[in-house]
Amino acid sequence: MKIEKYSFGVGDRFAHQAKAQLKAIQLGAEAGADIVPVWNKSHREHTTIGSEPPSLRSAADEAVQALGWDRNYYVDADHINLDIVEGFLDCSDFFTIDVADYIGQAADPAAVSAFLDRHPELVGSIEIPGIDGAIEITREYAEGVANQFFKAVSEAGRIYRHIAERKGEGNFVTEVSMDETDAPQTPPDMLIILAAIADEKIPVQTIAPKFTGRFNKGVDYVGDVGQFEKEFNDDLAVIAHAIAQYGLPDNLKLSVHSGSDKFSIYAPIKRALKDTGAGLHIKTAGTTWLEELIGLAEADGDGLVLAKDVYTQALENKEALCAPYASVIDVDDAALPSAEAVAGWTARQYVNALRHDQGCPEFNPSFRQLLHVGYKVAAKLGDRYLNMLVECEESITRNVCTNLFDRHIQPLFLDD
Ligand SMILES: [Zn+2]
Repeated sequence: MKIEKYSFGVGDRFAHQAKAQLKAIQLGAEAGADIVPVWNKSHREHTTIGSEPPSLRSAADEAVQALGWDRNYYVDADHINLDIVEGFLDCSDFFTIDVADYIGQAADPAAVSAFLDRHPELVGSIEIPGIDGAIEITREYAEGVANQFFKAVSEAGRIYRHIAERKGEGNFVTEVSMDETDAPQTPPDMLIILAAIADEKIPVQTIAPKFTGRFNKGVDYVGDVGQFEKEFNDDLAVIAHAIAQYGLPDNLKLSVHSGSDKFSIYAPIKRALKDTGAGLHIKTAGTTWLEELIGLAEADGDGLVLAKDVYTQALENKEALCAPYASVIDVDDAALPSAEAVAGWTARQYVNALRHDQGCPEFNPSFRQLLHVGYKVAAKLGDRYLNMLVECEESITRNVCTNLFDRHIQPLFLDD
């Protein structure tokens, strides 16, 4: 199983939007964007919602059938490790092996020095096509990186072999993710990590590094776009080099996590893909849940009341909701409207505050980020929430589809 060059990760917290998401991808395909969908949902999301992994497979299968999608599609066990992989094994064919927790754990010094002895090519002045000037790596630097990542890569190997034993080699797509950590991995780090991944014989098809800058949930990229562009291009060059040098799968590509709504880096990413011919996987999970809320609000009446209730309860439980996401949100308390103020809002005011239109004076990124992490509130509302999704289906579908197509697929994969 070999994933296509361009793949688009969609998450669907409440498993009601697979058709609207696929519709956006279909519109993309009709306009010339050769992308395949990957439905992803993590253990954390399943636990919060109270759903089981097979529900995502059913939603995906159903959407594919209903819309007559005749290309490939995948179901991603997002951010799994050995403790939680079991429930995902049957229903997933894409596994995001998350070893971020192992980064920085002390590695066996003998294993590290054996690794460096095995890879003299990693030390010195390394010429990589596509990177201006050579990459300079000293033995000390390589040792530092190996110390930092060796445990993580060995663990990825252990998880990969466990999955392969159960599903059979070649029957699934493997991603290795290291994005949920504090320090970004530089292109030289990436080269060393890929050498170690090759040693572990992990047929990695997508790799998710932590890039420079902030990838906050549901809002635009915060950081130096020029620096991001250089790093992204250098990563692509390193990947192409590592494929040739270490015999990694020739479709190995970058995976951008928290990739939704990062509008200011889409142009640099599109340029890089065009210039290099590289592939891309991008995960856009959380943005769909916010479009559900927008669709509810836009439907007005009971839908708007429910959308307001979700905000009121999210505000009441702000600390608890934000805590697990502290490193990936920036909510300014002073910018959050009071529950009383929101109670008096029209549908348009709610939609304008939430929709990710940075040109709209009423757009409120703090409001948006709090609601982004507030899906637990909707999960607790249970049937009241789910029934309203059905009642307001028309406006929700329109918003989910338009958001993915106009604001994500178009700027990333289609010519202006
Ligand atoms: Zn992620």
